[in-house]
Amino acid sequence: AHLDRIAEVDASIGAFLATNAEASVAAARDIDSRRAAGEELGELAGVPLAVKDVLVTTDMPSTSGSRILEGYMSPFDATPVAKARAAGLISIGKTNMDEFAMGSSTENSAYGPTNNPWQLDRVPGGSGGGSAAAVGAFEAPLALGSDTGGSIRQPAALTGTVGAKPTYGGVSRYGAIALASSLDQVGPCARTVLDTALLHDVIAGHDHHDSTSLDFAWPSMAAAAREGTAGDSLRGLRVGVVKQLMLDGVQPGVKARFEEALALLAAQGAEIVEIDAPHFEYAVAAYYLILPAEASSNLAKYDSVRFGMRVTPQGGGTVENVMSATRAAGFGAEVKRRIILGTYALSAGYYDAYYGSAQKVRTLIQRDFASAFEQVDVIASPTTPTTAWKLGEHGADPMQDYLNDATTIPANLAGIPGLSLPMGIAPEDGLPVGLQLMAPAFEDARLYRAGAAIE
Ligand code: GLN
Repeated sequence: AHLDRIAEVDASIGAFLATNAEASVAAARDIDSRRAAGEELGELAGVPLAVKDVLVTTDMPSTSGSRILEGYMSPFDATPVAKARAAGLISIGKTNMDEFAMGSSTENSAYGPTNNPWQLDRVPGGSGGGSAAAVGAFEAPLALGSDTGGSIRQPAALTGTVGAKPTYGGVSRYGAIALASSLDQVGPCARTVLDTALLHDVIAGHDHHDSTSLDFAWPSMAAAAREGTAGDSLRGLRVGVVKQLMLDGVQPGVKARFEEALALLAAQGAEIVEIDAPHFEYAVAAYYLILPAEASSNLAKYDSVRFGMRVTPQGGGTVENVMSATRAAGFGAEVKRRIILGTYALSAGYYDAYYGSAQKVRTLIQRDFASAFEQVDVIASPTTPTTAWKLGEHGADPMQDYLNDATTIPANLAGIPGLSLPMGIAPEDGLPVGLQLMAPAFEDARLYRAGAAIE
């Protein structure tokens, strides 16, 4: 049914870069016969899964949305994909994304944009716009994404779906094509909080292939979500509203839906507390130094020798000529912009002034969160200041995209978990609005409990 749905609508949505119909059907038959033979299978066995193309898989090319990796076939599955397969999930396709996960609209993909299923002339958010659009358009019930500065939560908000960024280290990034290693986190996306929690449970846990992976006994997120829907689970929950996240630019309909969400939380017994986080206003600036710096280093491996594309300039040339011709042709404009910014910020004489200062700001933001979580259990904010904008609307001005991340970036800088869930539509444009909940590190289950209670 999902493959049929893809055949029916994906020409106009463009969520998928590749699908694998034959293998998916074979895998589904295999699950059916194992179930018929009486094998005990997990709750998600046989459920189709869309996989953001940032995660490498053996069955389809893995491009990370870049021309430089066109057609690249991985010799192994990323750990979250391997875990999903082991749980019986069926990987039906790879989804579109901003090149190397750099962007907020999926317009930076080398393979063309994805359209928002709610209104096709709108962006689905990014960088994981393909995964969110696939779920929003009923092409897949579940999807995997990666969130470095909001790339799971922001597209979820813009497409009326649910998306979670787990605690940093909660899910292995082995096989996730790296963007910024101190920020990257793999996570789930679905249409309900419970579905998201079920997928989270499948992919979470320690992996010796990822040195940042936490060895921690995670509680069941699905159990927490079920507790949330059972009612009365919010009594006494203290919900913080950060003044600095209620930005001047918040769209009226987003603000209205957010206030409604707070009223809903309060009606269920939560206590709403205003919180001050004085350094949040510097989060975007710090992020857009740290990210390009780490990305420029991670992307150095695309050297025309080890992975993907190789362009030989006319008349051949030196190693250096081949490398620069390949990178010139293989990387898009946003990727080049960030490599230039990042190498500059890391260069001798500037390192302390830029990367070093940004890291100090990061510490201050972490402290803001720590003192906030002394007063509250969760923090709530709009996931994004606006609903989905029109394709092309931000034009060549990347700052507009960067500023849209102001609400999601703080969680990545602090390594804490965040969840975005739909909170109705904005009356002025009929587009979905997302509510973001954040909790201290390791407290992901708290988000699922609260999210399910007000969903
Ligand atoms: N929009 C942010 C950026 O462009 C987030 C990216 C992400 O989370 N991968 O960096």
